[in-house]
Amino acid sequence: MDTVKKGLRSIAKFLGLNRNSKYVNHYLMEANVRSMVYMTAVIVILEVWLIIYQHVKADGLIYLYNLPVDDPKHYDPGFDAFFLFCSNFVLFLLVGANLFVFGLTYRMKDTRKRLIINLVFSVLAFTWSWFIFYEAKLGTLIWDAPEVAIKSNSLKSGLAVTLYIVAMFISISVAAESVVVLIRKKTSSYFTMAIIVLFALMCLAFGFKISYGDYISSKPKQMICFFTMAIYVVCLLIWRPFISVLMNVAIFVGFWQLLSNVPLRESTAAVFTLKDGDFVNYTTFVISLTMVAISIYHQRLNEATKDEELEFLADYDELTGLHNASYFARTVDELLKVPGVGEKNIILFINVSNFKTINDQHGFVAGNVFLKEVGKLVDESFPKSVTCRQGDDHYIVFTPFDGFDEIIKNLNEKVKELDKEIVPEIKVGGYRPKASEDSRHAADKARYACHTIGQNLTVHYREYDDKMDQGYHLMQYVIHNIDKAIEQGWIRPFYQPVVWSKDKKLCGVEALARWVDPERGLLPPYAFIGTLEQTKLIHKLDTCIVERVCQDIRNCLDNNLPLVSVSLNFSRIDFEVMDVVEVLEEIVAKYRIPKELLHVEITESALSDSESVLAKSVRALKERGYRLWLDDFGSGYSSLNVLKDYDFDVLKIDMKFLSGFSTRPKAKPLIAAVVAMAEKLGMHTVCEGVETDEQREFLKTAECERLQGYLFGKPIPFEDLQDRINKGEFTVSDTLS
Ligand code: C2E
Ligand code: MG
Ligand code: MG
Repeated sequence: MDTVKKGLRSIAKFLGLNRNSKYVNHYLMEANVRSMVYMTAVIVILEVWLIIYQHVKADGLIYLYNLPVDDPKHYDPGFDAFFLFCSNFVLFLLVGANLFVFGLTYRMKDTRKRLIINLVFSVLAFTWSWFIFYEAKLGTLIWDAPEVAIKSNSLKSGLAVTLYIVAMFISISVAAESVVVLIRKKTSSYFTMAIIVLFALMCLAFGFKISYGDYISSKPKQMICFFTMAIYVVCLLIWRPFISVLMNVAIFVGFWQLLSNVPLRESTAAVFTLKDGDFVNYTTFVISLTMVAISIYHQRLNEATKDEELEFLADYDELTGLHNASYFARTVDELLKVPGVGEKNIILFINVSNFKTINDQHGFVAGNVFLKEVGKLVDESFPKSVTCRQGDDHYIVFTPFDGFDEIIKNLNEKVKELDKEIVPEIKVGGYRPKASEDSRHAADKARYACHTIGQNLTVHYREYDDKMDQGYHLMQYVIHNIDKAIEQGWIRPFYQPVVWSKDKKLCGVEALARWVDPERGLLPPYAFIGTLEQTKLIHKLDTCIVERVCQDIRNCLDNNLPLVSVSLNFSRIDFEVMDVVEVLEEIVAKYRIPKELLHVEITESALSDSESVLAKSVRALKERGYRLWLDDFGSGYSSLNVLKDYDFDVLKIDMKFLSGFSTRPKAKPLIAAVVAMAEKLGMHTVCEGVETDEQREFLKTAECERLQGYLFGKPIPFEDLQDRINKGEFTVSDTLS
């Protein structure tokens, strides 16, 4: 049964009975238009040649023009002779030129110019068709040579009339299509189809007329004209195979029937009586021609399908089926050029604030399903808007300003419904673009506004304002100057002391990045770390800091300066964009640094997926002999799992534990419990953010081994640290680790 179904499906596909996408249909139409350009170019050249030929051949027009008025051939010399011999040539020349230009201008962006060009050729073709048609009605010597009277054969003159009527329709259609395009700003497939079909009909009528006329005449010279025209039409018009089959069969059966039933003149019959053998040849010809049409169709279909796939990848987001950021940028750029559009619309940047939790708790596949559903909701919520998924859990919308805030509220409610356990929410940043503003910049500003909401639970929407502009420009400055800052040495590590809780002696330092800008002064990490992470440039900074730290340690080793171990911070993004282990190993080898002097700090919130690249790198770092410190413990969601899945040497208790130290009664037992737990798991402890003696005292009694905080010292440059050690403000402990 399945095989039968499969077979039937294949046959249906072969005959083109299946449904094609809009894109494929459009592609096939354009291919036909292209064929028309080539074929009409041939026609134009051919007709020009024929007109010249008619003039120069021995008894041609030049001869006729010069005949005396009472010549026995009955023609009036001059124009009458020209019409007699050249009216069809001129007709095809003008209609050919009309369609050639139509094809050439088919994708022209300037629709007004396109209309004007097409109108010129349409008017020429129409005027000629109408003029000849009108003349023919008056019975002048147009359609036939005088020896074959018009009245003697109504079919032939009927075909000639058809030829001119169709030509008039073609020129009207071309002009009408150009008007439609001017109004709708896109091509009309119905008109285009009509134009090509009409032209095919015109060619067939011509072929029919010439061949048939010859067939019944006493001096047949162009019997195969019909065949030539049939081939021409097949090349011109590649349609669905079943239509090609029907079309070819209809044309040829009709023609055959006609030839078989026409009473021949004796002289012709002697030459052209149809025989059985002719039938075989004729049929073979029809079948071959049809097969050629079908094979061209399938070839084009293949190309169209492949192109469609590529185009889809180029314009759409594979996961959600929404448009992608590059399509969004292109479309909105165009819209912003239209006067007045900028003022009436707003760009919204939508971020799902707790998407990471969904991924962590339900897994990657469920996360993807969620993103798809959000995409669908975004698309449905903003009709008449340009929507796209920018990547991750970010969506951008270009939408009319009126009522957008209500839509955001409703959308948020719907997104919440998607996961009743985690209750995801959206945060939205808005920016009103200026006329002709670059849409990427505009979307960036909306994104910036969104990020300023941060973890604020009560705020869901924030619009970009002048205040944000400063932050935004700092962000742009960071992105565009990070390379320069590294090159010029503006990026450098500051060192914050870490001390033993028991004797306050210096046991290590944490390297914290600072950007010492010649214009903007000292930039703290919050001014650039987030931006560099978002733009995946953070690895440049971290590599630079590792190098600078290793240089400083080498300096200490070479010059016998006081030396302590250094903690290095790595971002989660580093592990995505570079091989952290490799980079670290290379720099450490370059400066010949003992590995025990380096600690690698990884933030707890980065370590959600124990199978990730990051997880593998963390394990590799451990194997290579680096000490691993778990930074900001307790600030994320997955703390306890991280302890189970990884093998950290030191647990760094987040400074949030110390906030409300004296006011919240649970703070102390909680810290004590964390320290005790770490000990049980064989880990050392350090607490960051120690600012008061009271805190220090408590931590000491709770047996937290190391302390870090402003109480002992803020992050300072290498030289200052050395200075303070030399001055005895810090005593370097004998026991480093
Ligand atoms: P972190 O790794 O948790 O670093 C500790 C932060 O707490 C530092 O802020 C430090 O100055 C601050 N801090 C230390 N003691 C106290 C205290 O007693 N009170 C208060 N209020 N704060 C204290 P900083 O230097 O601004 O760095 C912030 C964050 O930026 C760091 O948090 C780290 O996540 C990131 N960061 C700093 N340097 C780098 C770097 O080179 N690479 C990467 N990837 N991230 C870095
Ligand atoms: Mg740190
Ligand atoms: Mg920390």
